[in-house]
Amino acid sequence: MLNFIKKNKIKLLIACLFLGCVVLFGMLLKTVSIIYKLHDKLDNDKKAKITAVEKYDKEIQNEKIDKKAIKIPIITVHRTVDHESKIKYFKDDEWVNDLDELDKQLQYLYDNKWNSIDLDQFYCWYIKECEFAEKTFVFTIDDGDAEAYYNILPLLDKYKFIGTLFVIGKDVPEKTEKLNEPTRIKLGMDIIEKLRKEGSRLHFESHSYNEHRRREDSTPIVSIYSIKEMEEDFDLNKKFNFKYYAYPFGYYNRDLLSVISNRPEIKMAFGFHNYNYATRLNNTYEIDRIKVSAKTSFNDFKNWFEYAN
Ligand SMILES: [Zn+2]
Repeated sequence: MLNFIKKNKIKLLIACLFLGCVVLFGMLLKTVSIIYKLHDKLDNDKKAKITAVEKYDKEIQNEKIDKKAIKIPIITVHRTVDHESKIKYFKDDEWVNDLDELDKQLQYLYDNKWNSIDLDQFYCWYIKECEFAEKTFVFTIDDGDAEAYYNILPLLDKYKFIGTLFVIGKDVPEKTEKLNEPTRIKLGMDIIEKLRKEGSRLHFESHSYNEHRRREDSTPIVSIYSIKEMEEDFDLNKKFNFKYYAYPFGYYNRDLLSVISNRPEIKMAFGFHNYNYATRLNNTYEIDRIKVSAKTSFNDFKNWFEYAN
């Protein structure tokens, strides 16, 4: 044995070196694979974090919010025409907003890091199943005018906000006509269905089927409706699958409150008379909103948001 070692000293040395190299190479491979696995793990962790952020965006993880919203501004605009039409046809009309002014208002909210939520999210917050951070608002548009699609939706896409258009069921045509100011054109079923399918930033809810009318003495028509007539109006709107309701002219009486709170399809209703922030103390069928009309100055608009938290 000893002789064999002596005779093959060199060969054995080479063999040992070779074996050493193999072992070293193996260790190196192992290290590389550990590094790769670690990298993969980090990568997966990162991916999981991104998914969590997306989830946070969609569902909001309550425990991660430092300052939770305790009151939420729900702003309401009406028909909103381009600046030229506003000056030309609607100069003194409080209920026709100027698109340039709305652009400025939404730009302010965007620049100041306000986020909008839709009515399902608002409802979730109201029943305390969701929390949202301060600087959360809801954007609503009354009366179902086609300008919501032609003029306001591009702004919602620009600032990544969500808006809800309250439409008057009876006034919804099958097909939406092109804008032709100052003619009043209502948004049609064709666009409503298309946007619902696309998951658009513009959502649609109820402004009654046919109660957006006043009597000769200017009181809202619903003030003389029987309970049966009120129920019929809701029945006629069932085909739209609305879940939320905005009272025409912000008007409701005891009978309407009792009817609406017993309609299984309507989860919540919004007022338009007691302009204020919405809170969880509001009655489910008397949620406060804030009027943003053509007469609302930019300063007044900003004040609503500066004092919101
Ligand atoms: Zn209205």
